[in-house]
Amino acid sequence: MAVVADPALLPIEHKVEEGIPLSIEDGLTLFRTGDLHTLGRLAREAKLRKSGRKVFYVLNRYINSTNVCYAGCRFCSFAADEFKERDRAIRMSADEVMAKALETGTNFNQIHIVGGHDPRQLSLDYWLPLMRRFKERLPHVQLSLFTAAEIDYMARRHRTTYPPLLGQLREAGLDNINGGGAEVFAERVRKQICPNKVTAEQWLEIHEEAHRQGIASNATLLYGTIETLEERLDHLVRLRESQDRSPGYNAFIPLAFHPDGNELSYCGWTTGLDDIRMFAVARLMLYNFDHIKAYWMIQGLKVCQVALDFGADDMDGTHGSTDEERIYHSAGTHSGQYVDDREFRRLIEEAGYEPVRRNSTYDEFAFDWKPDAEVVLA
Ligand code: SF4
Repeated sequence: MAVVADPALLPIEHKVEEGIPLSIEDGLTLFRTGDLHTLGRLAREAKLRKSGRKVFYVLNRYINSTNVCYAGCRFCSFAADEFKERDRAIRMSADEVMAKALETGTNFNQIHIVGGHDPRQLSLDYWLPLMRRFKERLPHVQLSLFTAAEIDYMARRHRTTYPPLLGQLREAGLDNINGGGAEVFAERVRKQICPNKVTAEQWLEIHEEAHRQGIASNATLLYGTIETLEERLDHLVRLRESQDRSPGYNAFIPLAFHPDGNELSYCGWTTGLDDIRMFAVARLMLYNFDHIKAYWMIQGLKVCQVALDFGADDMDGTHGSTDEERIYHSAGTHSGQYVDDREFRRLIEEAGYEPVRRNSTYDEFAFDWKPDAEVVLA
């Protein structure tokens, strides 16, 4: 029988065992407990019920195709003004994006692209032909493109609504919508940190409509700025309800705020303990999400390895050896740009789990899987 040092966790353990959704009050108890061992055990047991001893990773390419953006989010260090910051502004042509994706070969299963609200790039004229080219050239690669914030921007730009826009993107090959842009759903926080982008209701509506059309997605929470613990938990409950209404979220990814070079620098860095608690609480609150992702680029490989014992079952992607992630590197992350899949496997195995290579929708692949020779040579 496991020792539970904090008796306040006993009724929560009972609820988790009975499959009863945890309340915001339960979440607060979990965030505040000093009994980190029981918190970890409960989250680990919940993870084992979901995915056994498997921990997933994907061989992928990661591209920020543009950082031109006028949304002005206060936590952002990535966006550039194309006129005032010419030396920092990046806007890749479709050919450049294609060439970048192929730079290290074709043996990858996902291409992950996000960018700013760039009036010259974020349009169907740019993306639909490029997506079709990807699908023709790389039929084994899933397209994990855009956030709901970018999709909302595109809809406004083309004066259309979400269902037909998502239909066009799906027909061109969109497999998965990235989880960004959710930030914190609470209006109090959104008004202060990202007043000019998609609202919480619109973010949820886009993901739910995408799921109805057969497009998968992920979800995130940006934590560590001005939000309260209650607002973090409200965010998780709203995601849980969204998954019940329109299933299709694969993974939840807690995104730790990075303070370098933005207007919220005074919030500072999150701590290792806050990161670990965030993974565990997410695992326990989101009973209807299959995967909790510890994204090494954000919390760092070492914290993410520990997170595997606190409910996480995914370490995200290797990225290509020539990739240049800019969102978190502009904000001060100490993570590198690339992780060899052998390193993922070493870290996962050392933590006592079984590494499993996946794609965006969690189809499994042998670790040494390669695309057909004719694809490589095409
Ligand atoms: S977070 Fe995204 S939408 Fe907001 S300013 Fe940065 S690039 Fe633009």
